[in-house]
Amino acid sequence: MLNALHAQPQDKILQLIQLYKDDPRETKIDLGVGVYKDATGLTPVMRAVKAAEKQLWEVETTKTYTNLAGDPAYAEAMQALLLDGAVPADRLSAAATPGGTGAIRQALGLVQLANPEATIWLSNPTWPNHPSIIKYLGMKMADYRYFDADSRGVDFDGMLADLAQAKAGDVVLLHACCHNPTGANLTLPQWAAVADLLAKTGAIPFVDIAYQGFGDGLAEDAAGLRLLAGRLPELLIAASCSKNFGIYRERTGIVIAVSPKPEMRAVVQDNLAFLNRQTYSFPPDHGARLVTMILNDPALRADWQAELEDIRKNMLTLREALAAELRRLSGSDRFGFLAQHRGMFSRLGATPEQVETLRREHGIYMVGDSRMNIAGLNARTVPILAKAIIDTGI
Ligand code: PLP
Repeated sequence: MLNALHAQPQDKILQLIQLYKDDPRETKIDLGVGVYKDATGLTPVMRAVKAAEKQLWEVETTKTYTNLAGDPAYAEAMQALLLDGAVPADRLSAAATPGGTGAIRQALGLVQLANPEATIWLSNPTWPNHPSIIKYLGMKMADYRYFDADSRGVDFDGMLADLAQAKAGDVVLLHACCHNPTGANLTLPQWAAVADLLAKTGAIPFVDIAYQGFGDGLAEDAAGLRLLAGRLPELLIAASCSKNFGIYRERTGIVIAVSPKPEMRAVVQDNLAFLNRQTYSFPPDHGARLVTMILNDPALRADWQAELEDIRKNMLTLREALAAELRRLSGSDRFGFLAQHRGMFSRLGATPEQVETLRREHGIYMVGDSRMNIAGLNARTVPILAKAIIDTGI
């Protein structure tokens, strides 16, 4: 039987990580992998996470199973963090999942159960795991225009024109903030226009929020999501705690479904628990428990928010420094978009050949579509990258 298997396409980012590891040059710079790194290149355990782990070790008396949908206290804390009361609790169903990826998988599972004919609309480009999971599930998908290659901003007219084609019951996947891979995001008035369009077509928004707090702040990064939640009858959310709590390997995420009416809540909740049961039964709990403790304890929460704010500001400082250095070297403002983008990523707009030249000649690693992880930089490497970009003719 196993000899019938074919090799799966290699994940480009994992391939890049291997190439970087194998590169003996001491001057190499990793802008590929999508994790936050501090100025020393470390992905630290956040202080509040360490403190919560210590407390948990003292007080935890059992590791028996929780609930199929995870601990309700986790769902409550995450709903408050994400939605801040934008929707009444009696319209919310939720299930803890292994990471944001697990949440995406379960949200799509829910769509399959409810409307197997739905087309999932994806921004062009998007995080490659979106189309890959949808394809694996055998669901229909379509692209909507999103990135304007010239301005490196959002092609909003193109986006609206394409989304006008979505049918009632289709699902529109949107990045709440810190768009991966481009770094270009919607303004609040643009979110409002998307809400109006979705209200007209009857397509359902599905918001992937993996970087809350990495862009403009915790509330600001959820503003578009909250606007949709307040205005539309139905909404799906896949949230990840990997980045903003720095607990990547604990696999902590949540899928949330907003129902049009409170009477529908129980059956939606039942379906989310069912989907967990069919895939991995009980979701992981350790990361979810830490998140719940941090969000519910004022001192831990204040420390978490302060550290998250430092992380966010560090990325903004790097963005501004890189844009300023490129302005100095190029004598133009054509890289100004780097300071406008938000989150870890920016799409530089280089050709695959230029990306390859940056790697071969300068030891600078970025994804083939020229997505750079800004957090891979520090004060020393910003001028090195800027010079390499100009030398490569980008
Ligand atoms: N969604 C987007 C856009 C992402 O970039 C990521 C991680 O890179 C995720 C979801 C899910 O992350 P995880 O499964 O590690 O929580």
